Formats: sequence, structure tokens, C-alpha cells
Amino acid sequence: MKVYEKAPAKINLLLDVLRKREDGYHEVEMIMTMVDLADRLEMSELPRDQIVLSSHAGFIPLDEKNLAFQAARLIKERYGVSRGVYIHLDKQIPVAAGLAGGSSDAAAALRGLNRLWNLGLSVAELETLGAELGSDVPFCVRGGTAIARGRGEALESIESPPQCWVILAKPPINVSTADVYGKLRANELDRHPSVPRMLDAIRGRSFPDMCAALGNVLESVTLHRYPEVRQIKNVMSRLGADGVLMSGSGPTVFGLVSKESKVPRIYNGLRGFCKEVYAVRLLT
Ligand code: ATP
Repeated sequence: MKVYEKAPAKINLLLDVLRKREDGYHEVEMIMTMVDLADRLEMSELPRDQIVLSSHAGFIPLDEKNLAFQAARLIKERYGVSRGVYIHLDKQIPVAAGLAGGSSDAAAALRGLNRLWNLGLSVAELETLGAELGSDVPFCVRGGTAIARGRGEALESIESPPQCWVILAKPPINVSTADVYGKLRANELDRHPSVPRMLDAIRGRSFPDMCAALGNVLESVTLHRYPEVRQIKNVMSRLGADGVLMSGSGPTVFGLVSKESKVPRIYNGLRGFCKEVYAVRLLT
């Protein structure tokens, strides 16, 4: 038997850091949603009790460092599964991009192995398992659109944002999320994006208000350190994107666009600055 799962990329419409906690984690408030750019996982049973991962993407680990591998190991151990699995990972989401590609692969592995091994786990149980693998994994298990609080694992689902085009541009640099949080002066931020304002925009289905409410406090670190990210933001705005923001800790920048006729110009204009550009829809 074989099962297939899609692992979509996520973007943060809003990312706020409230404070650094005593345990070293940051207290965050994020509004996250999925876009139609996805890795694909194919999972099949192996006769021997082992986890084997393959991928044509040359730039990701295929051993226990891979989050999909870790997800398989965790679910196997926790539920005493003594069967083996072969996972093929078709990687489409850029790596270390701020799009939660690894977390989404882990979530897809949990969902897929729950089916492959008939474990009958609920989404809530898979989310709890996912939290052991990383802060973004529970959201990737659940999907849709949600507010995340705590260190990102306390989720509340909300309605979908108004549909639009999402243009993603990733400059050729890799940004470590841990580094960005490490450099953030969380307790000294003087400006915070407004969660109520973003929620009103989404609930009111107002695309312009949603664009106006976009905000990410991690831009203060990444844009300062990598001027090319700021440049891509500026280029996207100049080319006519309605709202522009860095996703997660970066370096990917996304632009929201309501009119399809504007998409080719923005897409082609950005290709002059970076090779990795995608035009996708929100996954609503
Ligand atoms: P986030 O937005 O959650 O911080 P990201 O998009 O910035 O995530 P990932 O693409 O998840 O970053 O990759 C971060 C690191 O994790 C990479 O350096 C990579 O080597 C490692 N990694 C582990 N498993 C995976 C995976 N399945 N896909 C991609 N990277 C993985």
C-alpha cells in the first residue's frame, strides 16, 4: 500500500513577538495561512523495520536530521509500530526560506503514516505529536488559517482570508530562524503589528485592509542584515503588489496581488533580481 500527502508552504500574514520568556523561547502572536506551493510525500511499507528517506533535492539531509524522518521515528516509537517505511520527498518548497517547508514535511509524514499504519489518531493527537518536532508543525498538521500563540503551538483556527495571488521571491541566501530570533531585541520593540486589525480585515473579507494590516517584527533583524531582502520588498511594491511582507524569519518575501493581470509583470520583474520566484494562490 502507498499513501500520498501534500505538504504546503505557509506564510505569516502577521508575526509579532511579545517578549522573550524565562525559558528562552519567545512569546509570539502569528496569523498563518497556507499557499498552493507544496512538497509531495509518497509513503509505502518496507518489509524491514527501518525508515528510508529519498529525494532528488540535493540540498537537504536524508537522515535523522530531516524533519520527515524525525516525524516517522516519533510516531513509530510512540505507538509501538514495528513496520518499516519508505518515504519519497518531492521537494518543491525552497529550503530555509521562512516558508516552513521542513515543518510541513513533518506534518505530512504524521498525517500519512497515521493512514498507512491505520493508527486512527485524531488531528488533535497529531498536532500534539507535531509540537515535539517544532513550533510550526502543529499548524502544518491542521492547515487552513490560524492564530498561533505561546511559542507558536497554541492554535486557534480562523476563517480563510480573501483569495488573492501570492508572489513569492527568495533571494539566494539562507537565513537561520534561530539566528534571527537570537538577534531580536524582543523586549525593546517599539512597534507591533495589530492582530485585531488583521482579524477584522479577514473577517470583513477586505483585501485592501488585509494588505494594510500585514506586519512582521522579524523584518527589523533580517532586513537590516540582508539588504537584498529589503530591495526585493521595494521592487515588489514598485511593480505593483498590493501588500508586501517578509515571511517568517525570511529571506522569502511575498506580495499579495488581487488583479491577475498584474501578476506577469511582477513575476517577470522579480526574475531580474532572483531566480526563485513563484506565483501561487492562497490555499483557501
Ligand atoms: P521555518 O519557516 O519553519 O523556520 P524554513 O522554511 O525557514 O522553516 P526549512 O526549509 O524547514 O526552513 O529548513 C530549515 C533547515 O532544516 C534546513 O537547513 C534543512 O537542512 C533542515 N531540514 C530538515 N528537514 C527538512 C526538510 N524536510 N525539508 C527542508 N529542510 C529540512
